[in-house]
Amino acid sequence: MILTAPDYARVKREVRRIHEEFSIIEPPVNPVDIARHLGVTVSFVEFADGHKSISGFYDCEDNAIYVNSEEFPLRQTFTVAHELGHKVLHAEWARSADYKVLMRDSDYSGNEPHEKEANAFAGNLLVPRAMLDRYWKTISVEGLSKLFAVSVPMIKFRLSLEYGV
Ligand SMILES: [Zn+2]
Repeated sequence: MILTAPDYARVKREVRRIHEEFSIIEPPVNPVDIARHLGVTVSFVEFADGHKSISGFYDCEDNAIYVNSEEFPLRQTFTVAHELGHKVLHAEWARSADYKVLMRDSDYSGNEPHEKEANAFAGNLLVPRAMLDRYWKTISVEGLSKLFAVSVPMIKFRLSLEYGV
């Protein structure tokens, strides 16, 4: 199946299914626990010289996510959630030559449909709208970053997307 546009409804359905399956109702959401419960190996490794600019990637042969251990910890959380999105949503595509590793300098604004879906998956998984609804008006961006254990840019991205602020 070739994606020409991101299917955000499907992304949200898959994320909701995971939250329900693991009875996740309060932040922070731990994507490493979820991945491991789904049978995915998650390894934090020091990448070799020449590969230091990679955040992480999903290896479909080993059903494993490899994360750059030298990365800022909250970014590692995002990387795991993003790559888990590829595993859940794009198992077939992740085997193809089109699949790309996640680079450290990438933000949440890429245009490729699979990457947009993986970013939306990560955002909805880690900072679900239903949880954000309870806290966003009373807690600062920095406070939300601590509560949800994600970076400040990720919180700002989610607030902007969900409430247009
Ligand atoms: Zn990706």
